[in-house]
Amino acid sequence: MLEFQPTEIKRLPHSLSIQWKDGHRSEHTYRLLRESCPCARCDAIRQENDPFRMVPSEEYWEKLHLVGIQRVGRYAIQLMWSDGHKTGIYTFTFLRELSDSKVT
Ligand SMILES: [Zn+2]
Repeated sequence: MLEFQPTEIKRLPHSLSIQWKDGHRSEHTYRLLRESCPCARCDAIRQENDPFRMVPSEEYWEKLHLVGIQRVGRYAIQLMWSDGHKTGIYTFTFLRELSDSKVT
């Protein structure tokens, strides 16, 4: 659980930059982070795949930003969004794997 540890987490205008202890650096857009929110509610919405659900507009994604980051123990951070959503707890392993699955 403690194999990935961040040494620095920076909020950029549209993304979150994470410097890892082993030298790797990740940069995730807020949109990607929010779309992969691991909380139970977001997970349920993704599973349902309801064709009538509201799909956020491009403008919504443009405006969405982080208002707070809270450390959760030694293994995760909780992200607080400008629209009030704050139940997503992102483990460092999750954040690290998110970066590694992204082709840049
Ligand atoms: Zn969520």
